Amino acid sequence: MNAGPWAIVFDLDDTLYLERDYARSGFIAVGDYVKKTAGLTDFADRCWTCFQQGTRGSIFDEALAGYRIAIEPSYVRELVRVYRQHEPTITLADDAAAWFDAHRGRQRVGLISDGPLICQERKFAALQLDESVQAAVLTDRWGRLYWKPHPRAFETISETLNTRPRDCVYVADNPQKDFAAPLELGWRTIRIRRPLGLHAGVDVPAGMTAEVEIASLAELDSILESWQEQQAIGRAA
Ligand SMILES: [Mg+2]
Repeated sequence: MNAGPWAIVFDLDDTLYLERDYARSGFIAVGDYVKKTAGLTDFADRCWTCFQQGTRGSIFDEALAGYRIAIEPSYVRELVRVYRQHEPTITLADDAAAWFDAHRGRQRVGLISDGPLICQERKFAALQLDESVQAAVLTDRWGRLYWKPHPRAFETISETLNTRPRDCVYVADNPQKDFAAPLELGWRTIRIRRPLGLHAGVDVPAGMTAEVEIASLAELDSILESWQEQQAIGRAA
């Protein structure tokens, strides 16, 4: 397709790859560490079970509690450090890889992602996104205050990609925080709801979420084309 006026800006977690794969990868790294330091052999599996049962934010504490041994809080902090600093084994979703292959060098492409900086940097590197993305803001580089929904990352990307806000498109998965800023700034918005995404079950009132919803990036180009046609009709009218 022709690239149109658009700058396509992607979220990272659960938009370009599955965040559960990152969690699984992190549990394996932490499991190796726990095996070495405490001699416990099934820690990764226990973490994965907690994750699948919906535990968030206290997985290591819960998994350790199952062993009925005394654990120092500093040990849990160490596990968090190992998890965040591990080199993740993750891959782009097939539809994301295909979209990048088809558009590389032909489309302005950006990325905006929240999360602890070291984690996001390692994910970005593991997915080799520097080959596909011309402008990226990992918001934690500026500090937590600038995580979404703060508008700074969106303003920065729009300037860097030299694209008017109305021609910037944000593609992301979490309606609770991803779309407030771009909608406020006049961007176009698309929610991707991957069946295995962590926020796939979240629903918010219309008006607070994206204009359109897709299940795969294979649907992205046809939406851009239809928007482009609407703009052409708007100009002609
Ligand atoms: Mg996300």
